[in-house]
Amino acid sequence: MHALIVFIFLCFLAISCTRTNWSNQAVPKIEPPRPNIIFIMTDDHTKQAMSCYNSLINETPNLDRIAKGGVKFLNSFCTNSICAPSRAVALTGKFSHINGLRDNRDTFDGSQITFPKLLKDAGYRTAVIGKWHLKSEPTGFDTWRILPGQGAYYNPSFIENGDTTKYEGYVTNLITDFALETLDEFGQDDPFCMLYFHKAPHRNWMPDTSHLALYDSVDIPLPETFFDDYKTRTQTAGEQDMEVMNLYNTFDMKIHQAEGEEHYSGGNKVFKTRARQLWQSSYNSLTAEQQAAWDAAYEPKNQAFLEAKLSGQDLAKWKYQRYIKDYLRCVASVDENVGRLLDYLEEKGLAENTIVIYTSDQGFYLGEHGWYDKRFMYEESLGIPLLVRYPQEIKPGSTADEMVMNLDFCPTILDYAGVDIPEAVQGKSLRPILKGETPGQWREEIYYHYYEYPHGWHDVKKHYGIRTKTHKLIQFYGEIETRELFDLVRDPHELNNVYNHPDYSQIQNDLENNLLALRAKYQDNN
Ligand code: CA
Repeated sequence: MHALIVFIFLCFLAISCTRTNWSNQAVPKIEPPRPNIIFIMTDDHTKQAMSCYNSLINETPNLDRIAKGGVKFLNSFCTNSICAPSRAVALTGKFSHINGLRDNRDTFDGSQITFPKLLKDAGYRTAVIGKWHLKSEPTGFDTWRILPGQGAYYNPSFIENGDTTKYEGYVTNLITDFALETLDEFGQDDPFCMLYFHKAPHRNWMPDTSHLALYDSVDIPLPETFFDDYKTRTQTAGEQDMEVMNLYNTFDMKIHQAEGEEHYSGGNKVFKTRARQLWQSSYNSLTAEQQAAWDAAYEPKNQAFLEAKLSGQDLAKWKYQRYIKDYLRCVASVDENVGRLLDYLEEKGLAENTIVIYTSDQGFYLGEHGWYDKRFMYEESLGIPLLVRYPQEIKPGSTADEMVMNLDFCPTILDYAGVDIPEAVQGKSLRPILKGETPGQWREEIYYHYYEYPHGWHDVKKHYGIRTKTHKLIQFYGEIETRELFDLVRDPHELNNVYNHPDYSQIQNDLENNLLALRAKYQDNN
């Protein structure tokens, strides 16, 4: 009996101690799981071709799903409007002169700090799938499957963790297939960050066989400035090589021509023969089935064009229709494939805890000023689409008009992942804006610097500048030393350079001082 009493007492003591221990410990804080991140970047997809940005020429219902479920930025810009440099800025949060990648000839220094590296160190599973375009191999990724260089639209090769494999199919569909495979492999044990980077709708705008006849029955309206005469910008905008009129009949317009038949093309100074050869090799790389689809869709229209022997504005208009329809057909594939990805997130129960970012490496001219391509600090190529969805923190269907840059992607992603933002990062986290707060000290202007001259394409001179919500000052330098000032409220198409106009003397003075201050702040001495 005595032993039993002692046993019961000991049991009571043990239970009491255990309880005491529990009560002395801090109640563990239940942290919400870290968000997954899907960073979607397309190549040359501009806001004018997105219905959530009031496109006049196409519908993008799946991209609009991101806007409807999150926030749409109205004043989002790149810092250097060209492919590879823009990617380097996004990865590092640093301007081109700091990250070392100023133009497409440069190679990215993969030893520097990037947000994927920091996320990987913090326990994220990381991947890049699609267009990389930085010459050096990706660093900071658990898995990578990238296109070599620009990559091919049809039957492309991919480099997967160092090994190259060619796949049959259309690039936008394949990138999505591989992205979904990667998400399956990652599973849901750890948070993931996937860079889902499309090649489309980059030149030469080759649509999928399923979209070759899209827009056949409509005429896409010309932009208001299609026949711009550059009369106030003759030293800059007038001197370039990116007019729709001069797109190649072969590579760009997809018309077969034998050597010596190039006289139908506006052509440009450098690239006529090469353009014909490139188109021929692109066509030859199609399977017999793909070629048959192309022949059926394009040959009757091409023959009619050649017989019509168009010239002047009629030729420019025809080229615009071929260009813009092919561009929009490529965008249609992007939209459908982003839809597949969004569906996947919903089906797997991942949509609530996944941040989806949609952007493009820069904007693009869809015939504005008579152009295709990018590079200039003018609105169409300076602006970038930016949509962010994260149901846990972002109010659906909201808009933000703060001045933001692709410089801000890196710190924003680090902020959401709970990773310290290195001091050397020059961008700012967009998280307060995304939460709907108006940060007290947000920037009032953005800084831009383009370098690719004279070695690159399209003859756009080097320039840097400042843009506020209402005005823009551009300094061209090197071969041409000139300044342009635009009143974006009165002259949204930037047709009138008012530099040195007496009405703008105060604004001009302020912008010049602020431009100097920005260059000092961002340590740009070039
Ligand atoms: Ca690009």
